[in-house]
Amino acid sequence: MAKMIIGGEHVDARSGAVMEIRNPATGEVVDTVPQASVEDVRQAVDVAYEAFRKWADTPPHKRAEVLYRGAQLVREHLQEIATLETKEQGKPLRESQIEVGRFAENLEYYAGLADKIRGEFVPLSERDKYGMVVKQPIGVCAAIVPWNFPVSLMGNKIAPALVAGNTVVVKPASTTPLASIRVIELLHEAGVPAGVLNIVTGPGSVVGEELLANPRVRKIAFTGETVTGKHVMEVAAREVKRVTLELGGSDPMIVCDDADLDAAASAASVGRFFNCGQACLAVKRLYLFESIADAFMERFLPRVQRLKVGNGLNPDVRTGPLHTAKQRQEVEAMVEEAVAAGAKVLVGGRRPEGEEYARGHFYLPTVLVDVPHDARIVQEECFGPALPVFRVKDLEEAITLANSSKYGLGSSIWTRDLAKAREAAERIEAGYTWINNLHIAYDELPFGGFKHSGYGKEHGVEALDYYLESKSIVVATPSGR
Ligand code: NDP
Repeated sequence: MAKMIIGGEHVDARSGAVMEIRNPATGEVVDTVPQASVEDVRQAVDVAYEAFRKWADTPPHKRAEVLYRGAQLVREHLQEIATLETKEQGKPLRESQIEVGRFAENLEYYAGLADKIRGEFVPLSERDKYGMVVKQPIGVCAAIVPWNFPVSLMGNKIAPALVAGNTVVVKPASTTPLASIRVIELLHEAGVPAGVLNIVTGPGSVVGEELLANPRVRKIAFTGETVTGKHVMEVAAREVKRVTLELGGSDPMIVCDDADLDAAASAASVGRFFNCGQACLAVKRLYLFESIADAFMERFLPRVQRLKVGNGLNPDVRTGPLHTAKQRQEVEAMVEEAVAAGAKVLVGGRRPEGEEYARGHFYLPTVLVDVPHDARIVQEECFGPALPVFRVKDLEEAITLANSSKYGLGSSIWTRDLAKAREAAERIEAGYTWINNLHIAYDELPFGGFKHSGYGKEHGVEALDYYLESKSIVVATPSGR
């Protein structure tokens, strides 16, 4: 049985309660983890609180050394961690390997920034005084993580938090704690001191709520659904906590009449069906200029048909199961509603048949046309492998439709015309616009949503701002000098 890590120790829940972690491809139990109570969470917060001062006072380059070693150890165990993630999450092994590798890169990126965090000297209007702005860590931070990218989304939070001198309590999703626990074990082996990084497993309604409410937790870094994110912000406000919210998205992809259609078709297929469509950054609405729509679809549809669905441990598989039965029901309902409203299914639109699919939450990659723009699959976030495709007459119509969503996370435009690319990049209401490029977030660039997609940034040097306080200090020269 896997254990929580609190104060550097492997621990069970005080109550002895456990939760089963099941493989979404087979239904088999992969392992069990403790089901924490409020007391377990309080203990984790208390040890993180006690560990804070010493970690904050550790020289930045020493903190960096620990994280570099941690990244190295994670790389050495990449295959083991990736296999565990595929078993608990369902995604193809290749995708888990990419994700664990990205975690290590992210850790190294922030380790490299550790000794570059600096404040300012500020001359003041009075000659005998000057000001300083110093950057200080916030204290205990909670990292609340969803199940779709359990390791890398945890990394987006713990790397900047630790580098800045904070301590952390991680709450993984109830269904995907195993790879995260293993990673945190390795970070302890690398030298993270006891109490600096803790992981508590259990339901959001217990573990998550206590982290939101506990006054010793000063910052909540949350990734998850928009509806949960609004609740996080409300509860955190009662203790005036800092929050960053990385929430849902409904990214538009616009393909213009002068685009490289082969590259765009490949990007649309990866961009929609990676992780079985369960990604915040994913092509969720495709807008094709009328004049190239047929030529694009000739390239795109065969790619979608070729995606092999199955158990992610099989190296030929490109699309695993949906993560839960509820997740599959949700996608099925959205597709059925669209079809009832007049949409046509060009590919997929149903569960795959056969014995190998009987016990998993599988659904075929699906492409739809003639979808009314007010259908739920367009207006809400479709967190699964189904893509509505629209034809537009020009860029104006494409941008208007792209912006007609309450979300604003990612977006892309495909064109060889710099003027069109610039127009779209400036006018699309989203935290990221890729021009002729896949929807992939870079460590170097700040990432975060507009509108209902969130608040605050992860990645980039900007993420550090969300784990640091700026403090002003005024220094007066003693009189007579
Ligand atoms: P949820 O909001 O349901 O859960 C996210 C995390 O919050 C889980 O750890 C969950 O715990 C926890 N949680 C649930 N209820 C509470 C609560 N009351 N208080 C505190 N914590 C709570 O999201 P999903 O797991 O369904 O994740 C999918 C969503 O994440 C999608 O909407 C997706 O778009 C979004 N996402 C956003 C990204 C971004 O960067 N913008 C990136 C990736 C995903 P438990 O598992 O125990 O319920």
